[in-house]
Amino acid sequence: MVDLLSQHKKLEKPIFEAIQRVIDASAFIKGEEVGRFEKDLAEFLQVSHVIGCANGTDALQIALMALDLKPGDEVIVPAFTYVATAEVIALLGLVPVMVDVEEDTFNISLPGIARAITPRTKAIIPVHLFGQCSDMEPLMKLAEAHNLWVIEDNAQSLGADYIFRDPALRDLQSRTTSNFASPSGLQIPKSDMSGGQNTSKAGTIGHIGCTSFFPTKNLGCMGDGGALMTNNPALAEKIRMIANHGQRKKYYHEVVGCNSRLDTLQAAILNVKLPHLPDYLNARKSVGAFYQEALKDFAYGTLPTSLPSAPPTYNQFTLKIKDGLRDQLKDFLAQKGIPTMIYYPLPLYRQDAFSKYVPEGFSLPVTEKLCKSVLSLPIHTEMTDEVLAHIADAVNSFRL
Ligand SMILES: *Cc1c(COP(=O)(O)O)cnc(C)c1O
Repeated sequence: MVDLLSQHKKLEKPIFEAIQRVIDASAFIKGEEVGRFEKDLAEFLQVSHVIGCANGTDALQIALMALDLKPGDEVIVPAFTYVATAEVIALLGLVPVMVDVEEDTFNISLPGIARAITPRTKAIIPVHLFGQCSDMEPLMKLAEAHNLWVIEDNAQSLGADYIFRDPALRDLQSRTTSNFASPSGLQIPKSDMSGGQNTSKAGTIGHIGCTSFFPTKNLGCMGDGGALMTNNPALAEKIRMIANHGQRKKYYHEVVGCNSRLDTLQAAILNVKLPHLPDYLNARKSVGAFYQEALKDFAYGTLPTSLPSAPPTYNQFTLKIKDGLRDQLKDFLAQKGIPTMIYYPLPLYRQDAFSKYVPEGFSLPVTEKLCKSVLSLPIHTEMTDEVLAHIADAVNSFRL
């Protein structure tokens, strides 16, 4: 499914040197490499602040903590996502409200969100699934209309673009935050990032973006790592404080925080890899383009599609297989030595861990259908034409 070794072999020397530098300095916690990485990633994403943390799940948790939500507050999430998105909501005593996704993009359904909003709703967490940004322009408009926070779960789509139809809406996030009264009196000034162009990077459009550097994500480290991003200086400061035991000054704890820092060693590795992120994204796009062309006549399933406003970076290449044939195709490919994965086999609301948040028999039609039909093909940055042709031929040779 992935080939991390080949990716890292190409950078073996600079990575070893970076690790050696960290050992020589022996500043393993909050060392220089962390600050450098945060600045460089902020520059790449064109966002004012990036704050490293221990992993993508912590990033989501810290984002929710920074918004001063109260137990019982509702947070809207798609039902078709990785568990982490909803897990942190439950962990903080908040209520995950699961909504359906769009069949064509796998991303959160706008009408689904609109139907789920109640007076207790405080935030929406759109997940940019499989490498593609959710349709953020109408989502931010909806959030503004209901005074809701927007936290982007961008663990799978770092580097993906989102193109606004109306460039004037690019700074919606600052408009929504400026009229949101923070219970802690947090001052939220207007964003200083409203550029003239109409494209933003995924994760920089909502109030807070969260990402992961888990090895298989678009930018992977060699262990766990994560980050939060925001254009809002007050939120940035609060996030930084929460991720470091709620302290600004050592041993003076202003709020309850946690211990979630990006390791200096991981930051050093990420500093070597970040300049290659555009190449990694291009490699994924080429694989996606290859599969799109090679599988265009595949009769037993449909290929992933995208909105013109959200060009995919293909963290996954996910087919929808017809007529209950998914598991049969998966076995067929496995026999030919081709691994595939099912992201995700079970809707969040069918997971035992979340049963108390949904009524008996709760079901969302698109999520149900996707969990039974999705099949992800191998995709990574080191695929050769031979391997790709072999996989495509195998898929195309499937017969009932
Ligand atoms: C990977 C992932 C996370 C969690 O990231 P970790 O770094 O593994 O904690 C959260 N949300 C989604 C959608 C993910 O794919």
